[in-house]
Amino acid sequence: MRQFENKVAVITGGSSGIGKATALALANMGAAIVIASRNNTTGEQVVENIKATGGKAVFVKTDVSEEVQVKNLIEKTLKTFGRLDLAFNNAGIEQTPMPLPEQTEALYQQVMDINVKGVWLCLKHQIPAMLKSGGGSIVNTSSFSGIIAFATIPIYVASKHAVVGLTKAVALEYARNNIRVNVILPGSVENTGTFDRSFGDNQASIEWAKSIHPIGRLATPEEIANAVVFMLSDKSGFLTGHSMVVDGGYTAG
Ligand code: NAD
Repeated sequence: MRQFENKVAVITGGSSGIGKATALALANMGAAIVIASRNNTTGEQVVENIKATGGKAVFVKTDVSEEVQVKNLIEKTLKTFGRLDLAFNNAGIEQTPMPLPEQTEALYQQVMDINVKGVWLCLKHQIPAMLKSGGGSIVNTSSFSGIIAFATIPIYVASKHAVVGLTKAVALEYARNNIRVNVILPGSVENTGTFDRSFGDNQASIEWAKSIHPIGRLATPEEIANAVVFMLSDKSGFLTGHSMVVDGGYTAG
């Protein structure tokens, strides 16, 4: 039997990058997948990829910063697959670097609404659903910016620190209910919307991004997915409230 056979997983931001790689990995190991993101076209494509290899998947268009849409996501999950066992709360956006005085209240609101409120809303609606079937495992996405800072992106840095705090508090609340909550903190990851929007095809910047990681390159989405899959699986049964840094050694220095 495959490792995630009969398990149902919700993956926010599952239409591209790290979320897509994790969706494909979990589907390959037997999980039924619910892809939630704002982008219909790419979300449906991931669903088709999974179905083409014999897996089960649906797409639910969701803006994680809107409670009514997150509620709908979990209701549709239960209606379609009957249960919820796993969640990867991964949807997020970056902040364009700029001097502090130029940063607007609207920008602050947008980054915090998606990166922090979005994760909080997902936890709020996923946990009651998981409790109904006896427990579950959740991973949230922070960043190496969740434990260190970079100048000119303070809102993003604050939002990713907040995801670590949310993870720990909810992990403590549900530790006796067979629900584990952990957080992944990736370094820079190639082939993702985040990286492509931040660095484009500026080769000098890309080489700089590689060079700041002691390993000397960027992560692949699949390398991040492997760590997420471990934290979602029963193999990490004693792990909760944990921050797993996957950054090629960046924060070791
Ligand atoms: P990505 O842009 O490919 O993926 C982000 C996903 O989030 C997309 O599917 C997008 O549709 C979705 N999304 C954005 N806003 C949303 C909203 N309001 N509601 C629902 N979905 C929404 O980039 P990625 O790098 O794969 O990003 C995944 C996560 O990883 C993000 O939280 C990001 O901050 C984090 N991260 C990325 C890197 C990196 O270098 N790529 C490093 C550290 C952390």
